[in-house]
Amino acid sequence: MILDAFSLQGKVAIITGSGRGIGKGIALAFAEAGADIICVGRTLSAIEATAAEAREFGHKALAIGCDVTDSKQVESMVAQTIQEFGRIDILVNNAGGSTFCPAMKTSERRWEAVVRLNLTAAFLCTKAVARHMLEQKSGCIINISSGDSQLPARGMVAYAAAKAGINSMTKTMAWELAPDIRVNCILPGAIETEGSGPALAPVIGKLLAGTPRKRMGTPRDIAMAAIFLASPAADFVTGKKFEVDGGMEFVDLDPAEVGKGG
Ligand code: NDP
Repeated sequence: MILDAFSLQGKVAIITGSGRGIGKGIALAFAEAGADIICVGRTLSAIEATAAEAREFGHKALAIGCDVTDSKQVESMVAQTIQEFGRIDILVNNAGGSTFCPAMKTSERRWEAVVRLNLTAAFLCTKAVARHMLEQKSGCIINISSGDSQLPARGMVAYAAAKAGINSMTKTMAWELAPDIRVNCILPGAIETEGSGPALAPVIGKLLAGTPRKRMGTPRDIAMAAIFLASPAADFVTGKKFEVDGGMEFVDLDPAEVGKGG
């Protein structure tokens, strides 16, 4: 059956930031598609809840508390995964996000924290995991970037620059880890999550006006693209960017209009 090529049966997948939002959506979708999953995040109760839900699909699910901006914690999370499962087939670098802040009010400290979470952390996780994938001679890495990486993003200067870095890292790592490991990224548009909801609520009318599909995206929309990229169906796909955004091209948001949080 052709749909068997989209199955993740027997795969072991780490998903960072899977206690809520897009990461949780991807973790549950991967479990539904047959994978054993490792849920990673800082809030134990949240990742444990995702893992418990994932087990209902009949596969293994482990929750590992880890701040992905800390290389020691990342190394330990990967070591624990190998100890438990013996291999890693898929890594989704999803943990990330930022609040709105105009460039001229962005301090050096804030800039560095945003870049560390949205770019450096994905590099640290990729290096720690790819070591095992190279030994296995197989693996797949999916980086969650953002539409903001390719457009002017007022109030998101550090975030957009970090996500542009993710796009670049995706291409370079696809070549450095070739031919056995595939590396791709997904650029979500406006997705309704716990993180984005409060910031985007005041500008939802503007976002929908600029979105041909006329709705906000859901974590499951992103998870569907991630299943394709993680599965054997995408065997000939590497080093590429996938825009999953309801067709949105550009919506100029004024940092003064958006809500708190995000
Ligand atoms: P949320 O804020 O809803 O969730 C982020 C998750 O990441 C949480 O589970 C959080 O858990 C975890 N996380 C945050 N910091 C760390 C850390 N240092 N170490 C480990 N885990 C961490 O985000 P979304 O689901 O909205 O976004 C997910 C990804 O998608 C991000 O990379 C974001 O930039 C990207 N994206 C989102 C869009 C949207 O509209 N929502 C649009 C474009 C891109 P905890 O705090 O417990 O660690």
